[in-house]
Amino acid sequence: MSDNILVVLVNTSHPGNVGSAARAMKTMGLSRLCLVSPDQFPHEYATSRAAGADDVLEQARVVSTLDEAIADCSLVVGTSARGRKIPWPIMNPRECAERLWPESQRQQVALVFGREERGLTNDELARCHYHVHIPSDPEYSSLNLGAAVQVLSYELRMAQLASEGALAVEQEWDAEYATASELEGYFGHLQQVLEQVGFLDPQNPGQVMTRLRRLYSRQRLDKVEVNILRGVLSDTQRSLKSHSTSSTEE
Ligand code: SAH
Repeated sequence: MSDNILVVLVNTSHPGNVGSAARAMKTMGLSRLCLVSPDQFPHEYATSRAAGADDVLEQARVVSTLDEAIADCSLVVGTSARGRKIPWPIMNPRECAERLWPESQRQQVALVFGREERGLTNDELARCHYHVHIPSDPEYSSLNLGAAVQVLSYELRMAQLASEGALAVEQEWDAEYATASELEGYFGHLQQVLEQVGFLDPQNPGQVMTRLRRLYSRQRLDKVEVNILRGVLSDTQRSLKSHSTSSTEE
């Protein structure tokens, strides 16, 4: 997707989380992972949690400071589960992706994630242009590291697909929608049958037809469906007719 987007994990303590982050990235087309002095890496837990995204782990760069990790990036965004004393320009994950994606077409950008226990330090956050907060429940606001990487990566993917115009999927349907005149034909027919069976009083129809129109509009009937419904009405009329003929005959 973009080799210009760097995911930086600072000082992770659980190798499993590195694997989950790699998997989250790969599902969304990201591949560049940088680990700032991870406690344990490489590690079998990382590989097993990566579940097939081991190429992301194999290519991961390990460095000892955040400065080294982000040295070549023109835009650096730090993620944080909580607000800080000196607030920084803050964005939600969608705004972040809308800003990061276009810039990643020209220059390298970084998304920085913090330690499982303590997040990013104030010094680390001060190295970022923006802070991103996933709008979680304030009573329980901290996501698992891998989950946070997934949310941010997903939004980047959505921004990419939107920029390529690939989000507007054409709904495939096996029949054309009914036209206004076909619908009018159906409503006229329906009204006639409802009067014939005594459901609708022509002198006092109330709002029944309006409500039925609204019900059908919500469904957007297609041509085949209108034909089926009209078939039901025609058979109802035929059956009413034969019933009334046989009762006159009795
Ligand atoms: N207890 C730590 C949370 C660490 S969670 C703290 O209070 O900061 C590990 C990492 O996941 C965080 O450093 C951040 O990078 C990311 N993360 C978790 N929840 C997040 C949220 N709601 N918004 C943004 N990032 C979040």
